[in-house]
Amino acid sequence: MTRCKGPDCGAEIGWALTVPGGKRMPIDPESSGAADGQAIVWCQRGVALCVIVAADKPLPPAVDAAVTRYRTHYQTCPDAPAYSGQSRRKAKADAAPG
Ligand SMILES: [Zn+2]
Repeated sequence: MTRCKGPDCGAEIGWALTVPGGKRMPIDPESSGAADGQAIVWCQRGVALCVIVAADKPLPPAVDAAVTRYRTHYQTCPDAPAYSGQSRRKAKADAAPG
């Protein structure tokens, strides 16, 4: 378990690798079973994997019923724009030097 780097957040977050893509996705570990969760998280060979779905969509048929729905930390983090890849690059470009 790690903590969010957001200056106004600091929440505990877990990580899961997106399928497909294999990117690290921050997950709110407390949000297990959240109906509006956008990440379907499961464990495979000791690795946490996730599929990202729209919050109000039913689970894709390929997803096993035993998996669990979580919120991604991007859904809840007050600092999400500050550390998501695209926004950070933009913020850097916009920021005054020094
Ligand atoms: Zn956060």
